[in-house]
Amino acid sequence: MTVTTDLVSYEDALASYDPVMGLEVHVELGTRTKMFCGCSTALGADANAQTCPTCLGLPGSLPVVNATGVESAIKIGLALNCEIAEWCRFARKNYFYPDMPKNFQTSQYDEPIAFNGYLDVQLEDGEVFRVEIERAHMEEDTGKSTHVGGATGRIHGASHSLLDYNRAGIPLIEIVTKPIEGAGERAPEVAKAYVAELREVIRSLDVSEARMDKGQMRCDVNLSLRPNGTEEFGTRSETKNVNSLRSVERAARFEIQRHAAVLSSGGTIVQETRHFHEDDGSTTSGRIKDNAEDYRYFPEPDLVPVAPAREWVEELRAGLPEMPRVRRNRLREQWGVTEHDMQSMLNAGAVDPIVATIDAGAPADQARKWWMGELARHANEQGKALDEMPITPVQVARVAELVAAGDLNDKLARQVIEGVLAGEGDPDKVVEKRGLKVVSDEGALTAAVEEAIAGNQAIADKIRGGKVAAAGALVGAVMKATRGQADAARVKELILEKLGVEG
Ligand code: ADP
Ligand code: MG
Ligand code: ZN
Repeated sequence: MTVTTDLVSYEDALASYDPVMGLEVHVELGTRTKMFCGCSTALGADANAQTCPTCLGLPGSLPVVNATGVESAIKIGLALNCEIAEWCRFARKNYFYPDMPKNFQTSQYDEPIAFNGYLDVQLEDGEVFRVEIERAHMEEDTGKSTHVGGATGRIHGASHSLLDYNRAGIPLIEIVTKPIEGAGERAPEVAKAYVAELREVIRSLDVSEARMDKGQMRCDVNLSLRPNGTEEFGTRSETKNVNSLRSVERAARFEIQRHAAVLSSGGTIVQETRHFHEDDGSTTSGRIKDNAEDYRYFPEPDLVPVAPAREWVEELRAGLPEMPRVRRNRLREQWGVTEHDMQSMLNAGAVDPIVATIDAGAPADQARKWWMGELARHANEQGKALDEMPITPVQVARVAELVAAGDLNDKLARQVIEGVLAGEGDPDKVVEKRGLKVVSDEGALTAAVEEAIAGNQAIADKIRGGKVAAAGALVGAVMKATRGQADAARVKELILEKLGVEG
C-alpha cells in the first residue's frame, strides 16, 4: 500500500483512549441447497450453473425458506445462549449492487431469529471474557464479481467485470455482538479470541466448516475510541470482510492506533467502512456508511413468517453437543496438560485426531506425542493440515500399541508412520514389508553386544573403570549393527552386565 496513515504508538493510544468494539461475523451455512431455492451450494461448478429464476431475481419467481437453514440458525442461537424468537420475519434490505440480482438482500431486520446471548471466550492468560451477543439473524450471500483487465483485480483500472451468481442465495447467518467494552489494551486479543471461539462453536454444531480461508466465515470489525474515563461512545469505523484470525487482531490494533492519531490531533473520525490490507496490516477508506434508513427495510411479502415451535426449539437445545470451551477444559484436565499445551494442540488442529486416536485404544500421552511431534512435522513440511494427512487415528493408535508392546521403538515407529504416509498400507503391513521389528531375541542381542565390546576395547575399558557414561558409544554401535531395531535400554543393561558394572 502506498497510502500512509498517521498512527500513534499502541501504548500511547491506550494511555489516553478506551476502545469499544463491535464484531459482525458472517457464516456461510453448509446446507445442500440455497436459502430460498433448490439450487445446489456445491463449490467448483461452472459460473452461473447453479442458478434459477428465484436466486436470479427474475420477475414472478417465489422464494421458499430452507428448513435446514432455519434449524442451523436456531442451533447457533442456542449455542450462543440466545433467546429464540417465537415469531419472526424476513426483511428486504434494498440497495443496488451488480452481484445482487434482486436489488435487495433477503435478510432480517428488527425481528431476528435469535437475540440477547453471550459467548465466553478464554484469553491466552486463561482469563475468561464474556462477549455479549446482540443478535443472530438469517440472510443470504451475494454473487461474486471478478474484475478483469486491470493490474490489481480491483474494479479500478479493469476493462470489464464478470459475474457469477452461484453463491447468490447461499444461506448466511450474521452474528452481531453488543458493544464490547472493558477489554482495554486486550481489545485486539479479545476480538481474535471471540472469532476463534465462535468458529469452534459453529464447527461443533456441524452447521458449517467455517473456514475463513475459504470465505465461509468473515468478520467486520467495528471500532471506536472514547477518552479514558468517559462513557459516551466515539464514532466507529467498520473494517469489512477480515478473513483470518490474525487479521482480525491486526485490524483492531491498527484502527486503535489510527483513531488515536486522528483524535489526539483534534480531528474527527468519519463513520465509514474500511478495507483491510494483509500485506502491511493497514486499513484504507471504503465508503461512507449508509444508515439503516437508507436501506428502506420492509417485511418480505413473499415469505411466510418463521414461528419455530417451542417443542422443536427444546429438542434442538437438548441435542446440542458439549460446547468447545467446556470440552477443552475437560480434556485438559483428563490429559493433565497445561493451558499453553492445549492451545498448541488447538492451533495445530490436533485435538480431534488425538481424541479419535485415544478412542481407538492409544494411551493419551502416546496419541499426543505422535500427532504433535512426528505428524505435525510431516504436515508442516507438506503445508497441510493434520486432518488432511493420509493416516487415520486408528493407524496411529496401532503404532502406539506396537510401541507399548515393545515391538517397535520410537525410531522404528517413525519409519512405520513414514511408510503409512507414503501409502504402503496399515502399520502392520509396513512393519512386515520393511522388516521393522525390535530385536528382542536375547541371543542375537547378546551376540551384537559382544561384538561391539570386542571392536571397541578402549571404550570397554573406560566403562570397566567406572565411566558408565561411555556406554552410550557402545549402545550406538549395537543400534547401528541392528539397523536401529534393538531396544536401546535393554542393550545398555546387557553391556553393563557383560562388563560387570552396576548401572
Ligand atoms: P451496521 O449494520 O451499520 O453494521 P450493526 O448494528 O449491525 O450496524 O453493527 C454494528 C456493530 O458495531 C455492532 O456489533 C455494535 O455493537 C457495534 N457498535 C455500535 N456502535 C459502536 C461504537 N460507537 N463503537 C464501536 N462499536 C459499535
Ligand atoms: Mg455492519
Ligand atoms: Zn436458485
